Amino acid sequence: MAEDRRAPLRYVWIVAGLALVSSLWFAVWSTVGAGPVWIAYLTMPLGGAVAIVAVHRLGRIVRPDAVARRFWRSLLAGTGFMTVGYGLMAVNAVRNTVGDDPPDMTITSAACVALGFGLAMWAVARVPVEAGGPGERRRMNLDRTIAFLGCSTPLWYFGLAPMLTADDRWSPQTLVLIGLAFLMSVGGITKVAYLGDGPVDRTALRLVATMGLTAAGVAVLATTYGDAGGPPSQAVVLPLAPLVLVLAVRAQWKAALGRGRVSRRSSPLLPYLAVASVDLPLLGIAVRELRWTDRLVLVAAVVVSVFVIVRQFVAFRDNARLLRDIRAQEERLQHEVSHDGLTGLANRAMFRGRLQAALAAGESATVLLVDLDDFKTVNDSLGHDVGDQLLVSLAAMLREQAGDGLPVRIGGDEFAVLLVGGTTVGETVAQRILDALTEPISEHTLLVQASIGIATAEPGASVDRVLREADVAMYAAKQRGKAAYVRFLPGMAEPVVAHMRLGGELRRAVDEGELEVFYQPIMALDTRKLVGVESLVRWNHPDRGLVMPGEFIPAAERTGLIVQVGRFVLRESCRQIAAWLGEFGPDAPVKAGVNVSARQLHDPDFVADVLAALDESGLAPDHLVLELTESAVLRGSQISQSLHELDAAGVRLALDDFGTGESSLSLLRAFPAAIVKLDKSFVDGLEIDDVDPESRDARQAVARAVIQLAGALRLDSVAEGIENEAQAERLHALGYTLGQGYHLARPMSAENLTALLAAQRQALPAA
Ligand code: C2E
Ligand code: CA
Ligand code: CA
Repeated sequence: MAEDRRAPLRYVWIVAGLALVSSLWFAVWSTVGAGPVWIAYLTMPLGGAVAIVAVHRLGRIVRPDAVARRFWRSLLAGTGFMTVGYGLMAVNAVRNTVGDDPPDMTITSAACVALGFGLAMWAVARVPVEAGGPGERRRMNLDRTIAFLGCSTPLWYFGLAPMLTADDRWSPQTLVLIGLAFLMSVGGITKVAYLGDGPVDRTALRLVATMGLTAAGVAVLATTYGDAGGPPSQAVVLPLAPLVLVLAVRAQWKAALGRGRVSRRSSPLLPYLAVASVDLPLLGIAVRELRWTDRLVLVAAVVVSVFVIVRQFVAFRDNARLLRDIRAQEERLQHEVSHDGLTGLANRAMFRGRLQAALAAGESATVLLVDLDDFKTVNDSLGHDVGDQLLVSLAAMLREQAGDGLPVRIGGDEFAVLLVGGTTVGETVAQRILDALTEPISEHTLLVQASIGIATAEPGASVDRVLREADVAMYAAKQRGKAAYVRFLPGMAEPVVAHMRLGGELRRAVDEGELEVFYQPIMALDTRKLVGVESLVRWNHPDRGLVMPGEFIPAAERTGLIVQVGRFVLRESCRQIAAWLGEFGPDAPVKAGVNVSARQLHDPDFVADVLAALDESGLAPDHLVLELTESAVLRGSQISQSLHELDAAGVRLALDDFGTGESSLSLLRAFPAAIVKLDKSFVDGLEIDDVDPESRDARQAVARAVIQLAGALRLDSVAEGIENEAQAERLHALGYTLGQGYHLARPMSAENLTALLAAQRQALPAA
């Protein structure tokens, strides 16, 4: 049978029903005097039996921890004994149906009840109270003493004392029992008043502790009615004991299912109540026994004590408010030191803390380092406000895509996502982030890209190591072309670290003149005559020899050094072409294509740099071609303005790697391009002879479309990466007139190209 896991209300209803019936019976009995007396003694054992079932089921369904288990077991035993004790009394009452007098309590049944009650209170006493320091413990003990004495006084005055001084109707066992009940219940109540949240639900504990009060209630009622030889008033009070128990069961049940209300640490109101309750007997004495002169003094004392209590309470409330304010402030401070002010994401400190905690707790953790590819460019060119706005939008996007991971701003344009445990795969989140970035973000609709490094740490691994690995992976992602994610693999670190070092050395390279421009001829496909060159930068590294741009351009872009590198290539190219034109006249390459990174375009001085390079070299603007990629051109209106300025100045613009981007056609209309360079990937395989005309058409589709487009828009076109004669012929057949590639000529130093031009000049007159 499937257990019903809802907190059971039916026990409460049953016992409450019993209590009601028994109170009603008492009312009828005391007014009309009808019915057998023993009914009064049935409700407690019946209710007790229900409570036993409830406590037992609680133990089976919610498996609490050791402290709670011990508590509920003792309570179960206690309830059992009490039920048996009152059961015996009920049997006694049924047998004794002749008289109207309540039956005497036999020693056995009194012992059972005493034992049961003792067990219940013992259970309460054993639940540990956690106290802060010795100071707190001292204060608590003082409070508890005040509470104990304060609560005992009215109980003594109104309950025990009249019983002791009454006629001999009270058997000694009853008196002892009730006296014990008083002490224990007051002790229990003063204890639970100071309990915070613990394994045993606080409400449940408090309810159980009040059970003793029912015993006190029996006493008070009995002294009021019992003296007159009247009705068995226990009928009203006794069922309250099982009622309190089933209510406690329900409270614990709810707490165990996590549905109880969230209770805070208790506020020590009890001492105030206790002091106030001492005033009750005092007033009683004043009213009953004293002369009016003395009475006045006593009443004044009571009034003073009441004012002191009120004064104390006000102070207590103020303190509590102060404490709350301090706590709120603490929380705010805590938030401030653990979160990033701009984006509201967790910051590096919190990130490290969480990571550390997860690894120390024996969990695995995956770190995604997310780095914006061209953030510096955005910041430099569009201003810090736009940059900040972009970071905020990016943070919002990360929050959305991180799933159950923790999004973090590490600093600057570096973000991270921390995934703890093995439930979410790092690659999934990384892909989601890259996907989200294919749409422009922020109110400035910027298109940004990110590179993501992923590293997973096994339980117990060091924080620094996983961060380093994620960093290496992120760097590798940048290296591989941007907008990608890379997971760290062993062996990845070395080349990446070498690259990082290279990035650091680049500045020196620029200053020391280690950079050199190579030139790759661009030729007419029919005559194979050189018509232009593309400038390609090289680095003569003192240790590593000639380093290719693929190895250091990404680092240069990352650090912003590309602006200086680009300026150098631009000047050098203009100077060189002007020199060649001077030396070789019309046989010289008439155009030089210079590559320009997005980052350079964002530089506010870019247009001025270009014009200065032309000016210094005396080169006419139409000899210079700037090669731009689509993704670089796509961003921002400021770039578009620069490009139009350059176009107006007569500089020609080429779209590099054409066909690999997405929005080529719309771009061509908005952008003052003069040339498209068909990407090498569409030249690769052109020469393959397919038997099947359909697959041949598919192979040629882009090359054909680009030449048609160029024709329609009156743009020049250059096919890149021609590696064999067959490709050159196919391209020519498709309509391309210009080509570039290893098959036609490799990139070469200026010196070698000069030699080539010289040779050409010598060959030509002979031709
Ligand atoms: P890119 O603009 O697409 O340049 C063409 C690249 O293809 C050059 O590589 C060139 O050597 C290579 N290439 C030419 N013909 C062939 C061929 O037939 N087969 C093959 N496999 N490759 C061929 P390189 O010089 O290594 O330059 C790589 C990239 O570095 C360039 O790609 C360009 O994006 C960048 N780059 C080079 N110099 C500069 C520069 O001065 N400034 C900037 N911003 N980027 C540069
Ligand atoms: Ca190029
Ligand atoms: Ca290219």
